[in-house]
Formats: sequence, structure tokens, C-alpha cells
Amino acid sequence: MRIAVLASGSSGNSLVVSSGGTSVLVDAGISYKRTAEAMEGSGIDAETLRGVLVTHEHSDHVQGLGPVSRRLGLTVYASAGTHDRCAGRVGRCPERVVVEAGEEFEIGELAVFPFALSHDCAEPIGYSLSDGRHRVAIATDLGVVGGSVRHHLAIADCVVLEFNHDERMLIDGTYPWHLKRRIMSNVGHLSNGFAARELERLADGPMSTLILAHISRENNTPDLALATARAVLEQSGRPDVNVVPALQNEWLAPLEVGWRAGGSEAYEREPGTQCTR
Ligand SMILES: [Zn+2]
Ligand SMILES: [Zn+2]
Repeated sequence: MRIAVLASGSSGNSLVVSSGGTSVLVDAGISYKRTAEAMEGSGIDAETLRGVLVTHEHSDHVQGLGPVSRRLGLTVYASAGTHDRCAGRVGRCPERVVVEAGEEFEIGELAVFPFALSHDCAEPIGYSLSDGRHRVAIATDLGVVGGSVRHHLAIADCVVLEFNHDERMLIDGTYPWHLKRRIMSNVGHLSNGFAARELERLADGPMSTLILAHISRENNTPDLALATARAVLEQSGRPDVNVVPALQNEWLAPLEVGWRAGGSEAYEREPGTQCTR
């Protein structure tokens, strides 16, 4: 099982999870051109793609959805609320499938389990994907971590978790107060501090790879998110976890899920490939 992050952040999100001959995109928040370039750079065969799992209707998750689904012939999976809010903007799709939090389904060799998130949109969901041997759980764009999210993070080998902002940088930053309040609310985004507290709970679990996602360019830095995560894992007796920050304009070299890299230093040895955009 492999995961490749094509882009992550408030300007566009997309990643690919693959096992055997099945791949799925999670979100299509970058253009078709960038999606195709990043997949080619990551060595992902577009022929293996079976669908796009959409988390919610914010443009940084769906702005490429129409062209990506049409040009790659992909079924679009999303909650009823997300489909509803997207339909006008996305246009025609090869096929639309409604998914529900708590209702597991299969796409090729992958079992997909959607779970509810707390975010300021219609009906947001995160996804947990398993090939029967390993599991990836993806939770970004959430103001608080609910019980179902926590459960799926706790059983995953690879955790993709939002490290959106540093609280101090956000409070001292230039955003208008109403936006700061929205980001910090229960339906906003997870701060480094909140995300780090979740990591403490995962210390006894199977997590071997942690991808820090949706890192704000205004109110955070990849280094700060990385230092926060590593410090908590160190304190929790898990310095072996491979921690990788996902970036906005660089795709990450695909990571093997369940593969123990021997610690975070693996990130320094093998940084992501530079996006050509
Ligand atoms: Zn987002
Ligand atoms: Zn969002």
C-alpha cells in the first residue's frame, strides 16, 4: 500500500492511495495539469485510478474535480451534502456515488470507510482506507477531533493529520478577527497544539508514518509543525515514527504504508520531489 501527496494546503489538496492495481484520489483541489504532472512525477499509473473520494466542497478540495474526473474517467464519491454543494461548480462527472459516514464500501482492492468531520461546510467526511494488510486514515479540515476520527487514526499505519496553524502565529497574524475566530472554532482547522495532543493518544498504536497536512503558509511553517510533532512523539516513546510534512507546491515521493523507515531522519534523506509548476 502506498500514499503519494500531490499537494496539501489552503490553495489545493490532492493525494493518491494505491494498493496492487487499484488507486484512488482523495480530493481534486489542483488542476488536471498539475494532478497529471504530480502523478507522473510520483510514478503513479493513471490507468490504475478508480475514483475520487471527496472530503467536502471547499474549493481547495474540489477546484480540479470536474476536469480531473472527466479526463481520467473517474467516479466521484462524496456525501450527499457535498455532491449537492459541488454539482453546479463541477459540472458533468462520469458517475456520482453518494457515501455516508459509517458505511464502508469497496473500490477494487481497497476497503473505504468514511467518517464524519467537524468543519464549516455541508457534510464533511474523512476517509480510512485499507487493503486488508495496512490502513491509511486521512483527517484534514476539522476543528475538533471526534470519537470516530480518533478511532480511525488509532488503527492506521499511516496517519494523515491536519497541522494547520500555530495558534500564536494565527493570533498575532494579519488575518481579520472574524477569520481567525472561524479557523480556531470547532468547525475550523486543527492547530499544531491540538494535533500534537492527538498524537499522544496514538503512541501505543500501529502508526509508523505520519504526514502533516494542510499546513498554513500564513500561520505556520513546515519546520514548526515538524518540530511540534517530533517533540510529542519523542516524549511519547515513538521517535521511530516517520514524520513527513506535506507541502503546497511540492509533491511527496510516494511512501510505502507500514514500512518502518527507522525514524524521522528518513525525511531528511529523501525530501519530496520539486514540483515543476
Ligand atoms: Zn481545506
Ligand atoms: Zn475546508
